[in-house]
Amino acid sequence: MAWFRRTKKGIKSRGDKKDMPQGVWLKCEACSEILYRPEMDKSFWTCPECNYHFRIGSRKYLELLLDEGSFREEDANLTPADPLEFRDSKKYSDRVETARKKTGLNDAIVAGRGSVKGIPLSIAVLDFGYMGGSMGSVVGERVARVTHRAVEERRALVTLSSSGGARMQEGILSLMQMAKTSAALAKLSAEGLPHVSILTHPTTGGVTASFASLGDVILAEPKALIGFAGPRVIRETIKQELPEGFQRSEFLLEHGFVDRVVHRKDLRDELAAILAFFGDAPMVLNTAEDD
Ligand SMILES: [Zn+2]
Repeated sequence: MAWFRRTKKGIKSRGDKKDMPQGVWLKCEACSEILYRPEMDKSFWTCPECNYHFRIGSRKYLELLLDEGSFREEDANLTPADPLEFRDSKKYSDRVETARKKTGLNDAIVAGRGSVKGIPLSIAVLDFGYMGGSMGSVVGERVARVTHRAVEERRALVTLSSSGGARMQEGILSLMQMAKTSAALAKLSAEGLPHVSILTHPTTGGVTASFASLGDVILAEPKALIGFAGPRVIRETIKQELPEGFQRSEFLLEHGFVDRVVHRKDLRDELAAILAFFGDAPMVLNTAEDD
């Protein structure tokens, strides 16, 4: 029934927006199945019909991944400054205020400590709902601090990314966070402590080009867009059509940029198994030698 469908390309209806609509019923973005919102926690906010992974916020990920009640947030009082007094169509300070009201967060990342199946860890989870999960000074500082604490306390570090990249409104200050987070992770690596990086839809730009790609183990949710520049920019730059599935998790797995694609329902188990491997492997070997 073409007469009530949009047939012109390039015109986006509100249905194209990935933010979850309000109400009891939820339409799957991929297969159009109508889903019952109160049941979505049970399926980890994935579609039971087609496995489409709905976007969820940082708090929800912490709930899914960590032992109940184990999370302790750190550096929540860090808030973005506006040293450039940047303004595009809106003032940066107004965008920050709008994002804060919308998400209840002080910036696009929540960081702290917790445990997975009793294994202690430091964790930082980006939140796409806050200015597209963009990395400005606060995101970079929180990632650096949580990493330094992991080093001090000899904990594993887990980062979970969903980001449009560097925060343009902070100019060069946002790009500096790439170097800062990478330097902090180099210290973690030098201390022999593991970093597990989980990539979710989408992980792009400066976040991909820094801490998100520096995991000792890199996991990705199915069909997440992961890349530096987006496919449209690349296509227009190289003047070539891109291969099927380009920049999606499964494509990156095939090409060696991702270690495993993990359904959200299995993330917690997978994470616990990886951390147990890094934490217990030497002890297991020692026990074997004692025998
Ligand atoms: Zn579906």
